[in-house]
Amino acid sequence: MRKKTIRDVDVNGKRVLVRVDFNVPLEDGQVADDMRIRAALPTIQYLLDHHAKVILMSHLGRPKPENRGQFRMDPVARRLAELLGRPVKKLDAVVGPEVEAAVAAMQPGDVILLENTRFEPGEKKNDPELARQLAALADVYVNDAFGSAHRAHASTAGVKQVRPDLPAVAGFLMERELEFLGKVREHPERPYVVILGGAKISDKIGVLERLAQRADAVLIGGGMANTFFEALGYETGTSLVEEEAVGTARGLLQRYDGKLHLPVDAVVADRFAPDADAQVVDVQAVPADKMILDIGPQTIEHFGDILRPAKTVFWNGPMGVFEFERFAKGTFAIAELLARLDGATTVVGGGDSAAAVRKAGLSDKMTHVSTGGGASLEFMEGKELPGVAVLDDADEA
Ligand code: ADP
Ligand code: MG
Repeated sequence: MRKKTIRDVDVNGKRVLVRVDFNVPLEDGQVADDMRIRAALPTIQYLLDHHAKVILMSHLGRPKPENRGQFRMDPVARRLAELLGRPVKKLDAVVGPEVEAAVAAMQPGDVILLENTRFEPGEKKNDPELARQLAALADVYVNDAFGSAHRAHASTAGVKQVRPDLPAVAGFLMERELEFLGKVREHPERPYVVILGGAKISDKIGVLERLAQRADAVLIGGGMANTFFEALGYETGTSLVEEEAVGTARGLLQRYDGKLHLPVDAVVADRFAPDADAQVVDVQAVPADKMILDIGPQTIEHFGDILRPAKTVFWNGPMGVFEFERFAKGTFAIAELLARLDGATTVVGGGDSAAAVRKAGLSDKMTHVSTGGGASLEFMEGKELPGVAVLDDADEA
């Protein structure tokens, strides 16, 4: 079901409470990477152009009562003000009298940023009382934080749950995520190829099962492949292997025989380090004292052959330890292959996968790079995300 967006509601002169994802990396009290702030600008700018009073809220990191100082939203507010070219009033509380007074004094075109929502213990508990106080600030609720939509917190789901009459709509970023991920999930143009990698199978077993059912081919790389090798009885040396998941891997190999493609060769190293000696070996000839840190050149060729005719590709999880240059080739080669696919829909999900594509300088060659890690996986698994479920359904045309 399509969701209403900010285009579908009247925001003129209204108090619009927007859940954004400003969970950005900080360094020395400055925003180290403002990608997530930039991603929210179209929504904020639209609301300002339409004379709304814009009240923004987000979580930032995992603050504890002892170290709150490091997780205040002040650096975010400064960067946002620079990007918007207008003042952003940062408040030192999430709810309470100070916030109520500041919101009551707002004029259309004003921007307020509330303090880190996780300073309130009720945020993660989805406490109805906190949600009611937040809802009282708003005439319209907007969720543009796709990356947090898999969590039922007060700011992502609670506000609408305690005030069902409050208009609740998607921002542009949320809309885009639902559109592209939704298209791949529901109506993939075929051939549909899924690439899965990353560290562990256990993180991704649900999505692997679901995607294997839907896709025409599933290419497996990264540390995840090692557990499949173990299931096949290959020597995996000192590689990352999840013993508890070997049975699961064996079951998947049986159920999706012919659809699952494992690496045929690997780059191995004597230790987990950027300057470790790298050597290419057949996956059935991994030395007992070596660990697999990347897919090998023959695997890149093989995966390339399967990817070339693809019309839809969903990729989650790096093919190797791309953080180390020596073991980044497989991941970057896959990014290159996707960048060169003509007329195909290419969607990348996952925090590290998105970082790898960015590092390769190829983000703008993908149809869509999701801003949601866990959220994009839960969505692709077919789960209904609480932060999406609460939004008003669009009227059927
Ligand atoms: P995403 O965030 O895109 O969902 P994951 O978090 O599942 O991806 O996995 C990313 C991590 O997997 C990276 O830090 C990468 O170094 C690691 N990784 C990939 N291949 C291997 C491998 N062969 N051995 C150990 N770690 C690996
Ligand atoms: Mg990750």
